[in-house]
Amino acid sequence: MSELEHKYEVEIKSREGRQKLPQETKDELKASGMMDDKGNLKLKGVSPKMLKRMKQEYVECPVIKDDIHFIRCFVCSNFQSRVTGKVLCKGDEF
Ligand code: SF4
Repeated sequence: MSELEHKYEVEIKSREGRQKLPQETKDELKASGMMDDKGNLKLKGVSPKMLKRMKQEYVECPVIKDDIHFIRCFVCSNFQSRVTGKVLCKGDEF
């Protein structure tokens, strides 16, 4: 599949304040080395400023059919890229 082939363009929305990541997502992030034991995120190529913004963002996921924290979306197997306020999502069912 080419990089830009995707099924959905999902708008990225933002809320005031930080949103909690589900424990399950934290465990996955830790297991893949993207979060340390203190719960600090370590995402490659993401600046602290960007990370701060990402923590306030979410998407209305068309696959899970629920609001999904942007960080969770970012590490999702369907995530392709982020372009101008949208996530390009492969849209595969889980
Ligand atoms: S990349 Fe994953 S979490 Fe994000 S919109 Fe697509 S299916 Fe949902």
